[in-house]
Amino acid sequence: MLFCPKCGAILVPKKVDNKNVTACARCGFVNKDTSDAKITEAVRRKSKRLEVVDKTDNEMLPITDAECQKCKNSTAYYWSVQTRAGDEAETKFLKCTRCKHIWREYD
Ligand SMILES: [Zn+2]
Ligand SMILES: [Zn+2]
Repeated sequence: MLFCPKCGAILVPKKVDNKNVTACARCGFVNKDTSDAKITEAVRRKSKRLEVVDKTDNEMLPITDAECQKCKNSTAYYWSVQTRAGDEAETKFLKCTRCKHIWREYD
């Protein structure tokens, strides 16, 4: 049971502006807190796109016999890159399997 905070009388159900509230019959106080106004929040779920990064791992590269100048390792990954739209020959790159040192190989 609710009581009027102003005069202490019992609040009675009343309809104000088409809303069911409790109001004081003595002083006219209207308790608006009893209205069942539920705040509904529209939760928008952002669809997170999982970007699949295609990792071309160096460890997938072929291995050739080449001596690393840094650690004297005898094997290295290799791949070739075409430079300047075919004007020049392919440049062969080597990457040490041990210390990951990368160098060019000139023919
Ligand atoms: Zn009152
Ligand atoms: Zn090395």
